[in-house]
Amino acid sequence: MSIDELQEEVDKLLEERDNLEEKCDTLDLCQEDDGCSRCDIYTKIEEVDAKTEELEKKIESLMPEVE
Ligand SMILES: [Zn+2]
Repeated sequence: MSIDELQEEVDKLLEERDNLEEKCDTLDLCQEDDGCSRCDIYTKIEEVDAKTEELEKKIESLMPEVE
């Protein structure tokens, strides 16, 4: 995969994250202090975060060295 393609994937994931976060904010459960530790959407957000990090590492490794 090229850097551009990877970057596109990251953008998609960030968009997905925004959508999930929006939903998370509307849940009654998440209004509670530690609500998000029990909410399914938050688990998904963490998965998206992990994927994003992985892709960003790949992008970094593909970047040409800049002096
Ligand atoms: Zn939540």
